Amino acid sequence: MVNFGYGTVKANNFDLDTAKTELASYLAANEPTFNLCIACGACAATCTAGKFTTFSFRNLTHQIRRGEEDNSRKEAAKCMLCGKCTLVCPRNVNTRNIILLIRETTQTLHR
Ligand code: SF4
Ligand code: SF4
Repeated sequence: MVNFGYGTVKANNFDLDTAKTELASYLAANEPTFNLCIACGACAATCTAGKFTTFSFRNLTHQIRRGEEDNSRKEAAKCMLCGKCTLVCPRNVNTRNIILLIRETTQTLHR
């Protein structure tokens, strides 16, 4: 590996090769628009729940892809299902269905 003279903080490293992918795979199979997200952040900028909490759908997709499944389930509970994010999403990601699927799988995956 090339030494560029700087590195990343170990605590902030994510090994995607060993990350838990069960939830991400389940979402992609049952709501294929999950894979269309480009992490633009438009949903987070307009999010109703984000005005009152730290919730961000964009961050949620990152957490799922990093395998942070338990934390992503806690975050998904904060969504109010208002649908504003679907109005601004440039990729037509079905955000509410993704949230609902995450909530449903809380009882079916890993339990
Ligand atoms: S607005 Fe759509 S594409 Fe952009 S981060 Fe949100 S879900 Fe992903
Ligand atoms: S549906 Fe959920 S994620 Fe989308 S804007 Fe409303 S509270 Fe935010």
